[in-house]
Amino acid sequence: MEREQLEFDVVFVGGGPANLAGAIHLKQLAQKAGREVEVCLIEKAEAIGAHSLSGAVLDLKALAELIPDYAARGCPLEETDLRDGVFYLTPRKQVRLPYLPPAMHNTGCAVISLSKFCAWLGAAAEELGVNIFPGFAGVEALYDAGGRRVTGVRTGDKGVGKDGKPKSNHEPGVDLLAKVTVFGEGPKGSLIREIGKKLGIFSGKMPQVYETAVKEVIELPADSPFWDSPFTVIHTFGYPLGLDTKGGGFLYRMKERRISLGLVVGLDYEDPMLEPYREFLRFKHHPLIADLIRGGKVLQQGAKTLAAGGWYTMPQLAVDGAVFVGDSASMLNVQRLKGIHTAMKSGMLAAETVLDAIGKGDLSAAGLRGYAARLEASWIRSELYTARNFGQALSRKGLFKFLHLGAQQVSGGRGFIDPMKTSEDGAALKAGHAAAAAPAPEVDGTLYIDKLTGVYLSGTQHEEDQPCHLVIPDTELCVTRCWETYRSPCTRFCPGQVYEMETAEGGRPRLKLNPSNCLHCKTCEIKDPFKNIIWTCPEGGGGPGYTIT
Ligand code: SF4
Repeated sequence: MEREQLEFDVVFVGGGPANLAGAIHLKQLAQKAGREVEVCLIEKAEAIGAHSLSGAVLDLKALAELIPDYAARGCPLEETDLRDGVFYLTPRKQVRLPYLPPAMHNTGCAVISLSKFCAWLGAAAEELGVNIFPGFAGVEALYDAGGRRVTGVRTGDKGVGKDGKPKSNHEPGVDLLAKVTVFGEGPKGSLIREIGKKLGIFSGKMPQVYETAVKEVIELPADSPFWDSPFTVIHTFGYPLGLDTKGGGFLYRMKERRISLGLVVGLDYEDPMLEPYREFLRFKHHPLIADLIRGGKVLQQGAKTLAAGGWYTMPQLAVDGAVFVGDSASMLNVQRLKGIHTAMKSGMLAAETVLDAIGKGDLSAAGLRGYAARLEASWIRSELYTARNFGQALSRKGLFKFLHLGAQQVSGGRGFIDPMKTSEDGAALKAGHAAAAAPAPEVDGTLYIDKLTGVYLSGTQHEEDQPCHLVIPDTELCVTRCWETYRSPCTRFCPGQVYEMETAEGGRPRLKLNPSNCLHCKTCEIKDPFKNIIWTCPEGGGGPGYTIT
């Protein structure tokens, strides 16, 4: 097939905060130096920000370095008066922690909608001359003839039918060629997965571990008790997950009588009957939360995973012709429950390195090594290194986690074991499905909504007539070993109700897929115990349509 080729100096793959900050910084530096650099950024969502979802409390330091006059330029901050409250929840009661660990102080930070924030960064990048192409999914990294140097990225074909044949509106994808390609695909990127297999960038690293989050933006009535609360940023742990499953809840105040409410669940949970969405509903029904959100209405819902492994799971950051930034490169600081500022800073450090390397004409891994060196010398290193065992300690059962956390607190992050090991999330499920699931929490269609209403409120849309983007190499395994051992956990861990088990003739279970509901959260590829789900990019422009998450 004839494909158009477009050449740039730098191609950024993914329109999240890491790449947007990187593209902006690259242009700023080039302008300062009086140099011309052709930069392009592609994003699989229909618009920049439409696939961006996070809590989100933003530490403003990377933003202040990137755009010092961000306030004057109308940066969309939702709330800057941050007053923290951390609560331990039992099924009916709550206890407020009298002491807030220093890492959890949010003074000087701001609540944002990541979706709005990315749209704003996208506009700033465009003003500087970055060519932004939303609706274009990167589906394949391109290599030189030797197969070791990344030379760019191929975007997905459009107009291919379910049967894999071109339709009347068929448009072949484009080859975007670059001196350096910057991958910032977010957690569990499908391109970095393949690059990892080919170039071994994860070799010798600890396996990445993830958390998954369901989040809503809720509008509250003017007389909600929340407006009298002394706290604008609330975090919880304990109920509904207990102390053996990692995770917790959050509630942040936003503008226009809105709040951001969500539950994060560590994907190393063991119980195959656990359903993160159900746990989120149970969290909402807890008396502390139910009282604060009474009378509210869900405006938007979404789901997303976070790469929470930290320092020891960071891949090799550069290969010949490419660098990796943001969540793709494990930049999240799970101790501070923050990753946007570190993602942005990683993009900026990558940009400085790339500009240097282009100037010197050395785009090899050695020429791009300055990125890792810059990172080592930056505040990212001091943040992430201090938190290097934090997420792993949270995975310990019961009260043991607090022993580890306490030891880490007084030893600069080292604790009793350094490094604390991680294993792949999918391997954590324990065989068996006898545990009775907790009773289904009530839904009312307004404040408490079911999964399908959530998908509707996420604005998710896909072209129906396209090949299924969820590749299941062995469907027989789904109805035999997976059903028999775990009762098909995909039907529970997916927040979009994409996976359903039906009864076929003869009473046999049969897997039915609803790929159009997919929220692009990637939980399925991570948590599938048999690694039998491969998430690939659907046609560009499909997926959630977040605007305020
Ligand atoms: Fe998330 Fe996978 Fe479900 Fe899509 S199919 S919503 S990626 S768990």
